[in-house]
Amino acid sequence: MATERTFSILKPDATRRNLTGAINAKIEASGLRIVAQKRIHMTTAQAETFYGVHSERGFFRELVTFMTSGPVVVQVLEGENAVAQYREVMGATNPANAAPGTIRKEFAESIEANSAHGSDSTENAAIEIAYFFSGCEIVG
Ligand code: ATP
Ligand code: MG
Repeated sequence: MATERTFSILKPDATRRNLTGAINAKIEASGLRIVAQKRIHMTTAQAETFYGVHSERGFFRELVTFMTSGPVVVQVLEGENAVAQYREVMGATNPANAAPGTIRKEFAESIEANSAHGSDSTENAAIEIAYFFSGCEIVG
């Protein structure tokens, strides 16, 4: 296994309920390191580009509206096998199917307001990280 980086978003439902510290505690307890982090309010254009792969899905408009409904925390996480590791820490997309102890099981409100995003491949992680962070903002 190699040291990898993945991209994370703590979504508007998490910032609204003041849960960013509780989620970060789970991330750090898993061994992943938060090597970059900032709080932003995504524009509609940013959210549309970020979720562009889902533009044909029925939930796309609602998803963009949700992701721009409040501040988010964008992060770069680093560790062994970080992409797969963080997806395990997050749990299944639908909190009803998420394993006990995962972020989404403990904190998500719904399949849409599911508290966290994590990249699904190292290729997409690199694209997503570069979309939100410059190299000098990432401190390993
Ligand atoms: P993410 O990409 O946010 O890490 P994921 O990879 O588990 O989540 P995707 O299939 O990529 O899930 O969907 C992206 C996001 O779109 C989900 O996290 C969720 O917020 C929203 N979403 C997915 N499926 C649905 C659905 N059926 N109805 C409403 N929203 C959905
Ligand atoms: Mg996804």
